[in-house]
Amino acid sequence: MRKKIETEKIETTASKNRKEVIKLDDVCKVYNMGEGVEVTAICGINFVVHEGDFSCVLGPSGSGKSTLLHIMGLLDTPTSGKVYIDGIDTTKMSPDEQAAVRGQKIGFVFQMFNLIPSLKAWENAAIPLTIRGVPLVEREKRAKELLTKLGLGERLDHYPSQLSGGQRQRVAIARALINNPAVILADEPTGNLDSKTGREVIDILVNLNKEGKTIVLITHDNSLTRVAQKIWRIKDGRIKMDGADESGKDAGKDAGKYNDVNNEV
Ligand code: ADP
Ligand code: MG
Repeated sequence: MRKKIETEKIETTASKNRKEVIKLDDVCKVYNMGEGVEVTAICGINFVVHEGDFSCVLGPSGSGKSTLLHIMGLLDTPTSGKVYIDGIDTTKMSPDEQAAVRGQKIGFVFQMFNLIPSLKAWENAAIPLTIRGVPLVEREKRAKELLTKLGLGERLDHYPSQLSGGQRQRVAIARALINNPAVILADEPTGNLDSKTGREVIDILVNLNKEGKTIVLITHDNSLTRVAQKIWRIKDGRIKMDGADESGKDAGKDAGKYNDVNNEV
């Protein structure tokens, strides 16, 4: 028990000295469905990710996980609140500026892989380089090297339909990594995989974290949280960090307790 408390203290101190790569300050997202109907997907979100963290956001279906990931990854904008990336308030940026930050600093992995069926494995992995205008020879070389590192050296010219689920997800991970982003955001990356293949994908994320990548893993699967250093729970659009009292201060004033969604919305 003492050991656990000491570890928490060390972790809290360690977090304080590390850069905040992502910080959400009182973020809400309300979808306007027309005819006066509104859906509050998330609200009162105070959330922080420090450089080098492996954070897990755990919550049931419909709790607001994907909405949260889209907002922290600048794929969507909040209705209110601030989103800081590397300490810079992105909510003041133009969509082009946000896209530039996203492209440079964040890689995404999704449950459905989101590969383009008509492109070979290496071409899919190279998409972010194509968008940046990197010459063909260079992007082919880098994509093939990365896929080989991820164990797909024999599958470089295969199309997504010729790959297993686990192989497709590894192509998607290569695509997320190819611009060498500091952060990987993974939304239910094992959701479409059997448990063994899912573990392999998690192992890849763990190894990337050991190499220095900051990882945010979003899942409804409690068993995956064992690999995380920090666990956040999201429920009905509200979030709290596990064991947040002292360490919850890192996350902002409301970390450590669920807010009552009905009070503020
Ligand atoms: P999760 O990823 O945890 O399953 P989501 O973030 O996808 O949850 O959804 C959270 C809530 O917001 C749900 O009630 C969902 O129906 C609602 N929601 C998500 N996206 C939209 C949208 N584009 N329009 C309206 N409601 C949405
Ligand atoms: Mg989701």
